[in-house]
Amino acid sequence: MKCILIDETASGQSVRLVDMAPERWPGAESGGEVAVRVAHSSINYKDGLAMTGRAPVVRRFPMVPGIDLAGEVVESADPRWRPGDRVVLNGWGVGEKHWGGLAQYARLRADWLVPLPAGLTTRQAMLIGTAGYTAMLCLLALERHGVTPPDGPILVTGASGGVGSIAIMLLARAGYTVVASSGRGQQSAYLHELGANEIIARQELAQPGKPLGKERWAAVIDTVGSHTLANACAATRYGGAVAACGLAGGMDFSTTVAPFILRGVTLYGIDSVMAPLALRRTAWDRLATDLDLDALERAAHDVSLAQSIQAGADILDGKLRGRTVVDVNR
Ligand code: NDP
Repeated sequence: MKCILIDETASGQSVRLVDMAPERWPGAESGGEVAVRVAHSSINYKDGLAMTGRAPVVRRFPMVPGIDLAGEVVESADPRWRPGDRVVLNGWGVGEKHWGGLAQYARLRADWLVPLPAGLTTRQAMLIGTAGYTAMLCLLALERHGVTPPDGPILVTGASGGVGSIAIMLLARAGYTVVASSGRGQQSAYLHELGANEIIARQELAQPGKPLGKERWAAVIDTVGSHTLANACAATRYGGAVAACGLAGGMDFSTTVAPFILRGVTLYGIDSVMAPLALRRTAWDRLATDLDLDALERAAHDVSLAQSIQAGADILDGKLRGRTVVDVNR
């Protein structure tokens, strides 16, 4: 069974492709009642952090990284799943505390799995991956808030990344006007193709700003954090909403209460890892129907299991655009 393995070393950690004897694989006693033959996984920002060791994502060594996967059940001690069922998994600490998706097999808890929506292949599910599922969680939060297309433009930060790209596609398809913030001017044509109406430079929001600015957008999907998130809140229109899911620009968040108490802006925190199952199912069902799967191919980049190590470093260095799918059997 081939997998990527992260090991602790005297100087930090090592990461390599290994061909592992089946006896080393965690058994059902590890709490994973369901064995899944993985078809595809993907490269998310957190996978990059785990594989490079740039942030303490991995809680236990040795670890198989990969926070998401799609594949087929081959064995199940839980009556809810049967061999042949096609499943998708995101988060729950998989790839951090539990062996993850960058492997040909995974042993997972029955409670963690979501049925692969009809109409999606395992590759398409991982083209969406945790990034797309998180973009949908952000959109669902804005919808619950009551944001609708006539309310005004929606800002998406970190626009050419995985979450950003899919957020733009979902918003544009739903009829919203999208303002995309990106540090890569050369990606303008790509962002317009995804559905962005206007592109602003990342730098415009990246420096410390005023507590309140001109009211520019009805809502925000933010993948960047730090000053970008503070400035995004400061320029959100009266009664608007900000869905914060990322930290690509930093974990800090220094702001004032002004947008919240003077403009009634609401800040929603979005977590994909421990999101309840019912919300996951809703998000995946919506992704299967609301995303233009042909257009999604514009955001696609495919790699083999061996190439996933380099892709993990590349995503942190801002060298990847859109989504990177891993064929674990290639
Ligand atoms: P990507 O690396 O694909 O996208 C991040 C984008 O952010 C980049 O493409 C780039 O876009 C922009 N960016 C990168 N570095 C900086 C910087 N220093 N300052 C400002 N902008 C920057 O990652 P993902 O889309 O997979 O994830 C985005 C964020 O969301 C990550 O922080 C990730 O950890 C988080 N996340 C959180 C989840 C949750 O459950 N809350 C789930 C999934 C992701 P551009 O070049 O266009 O500016």
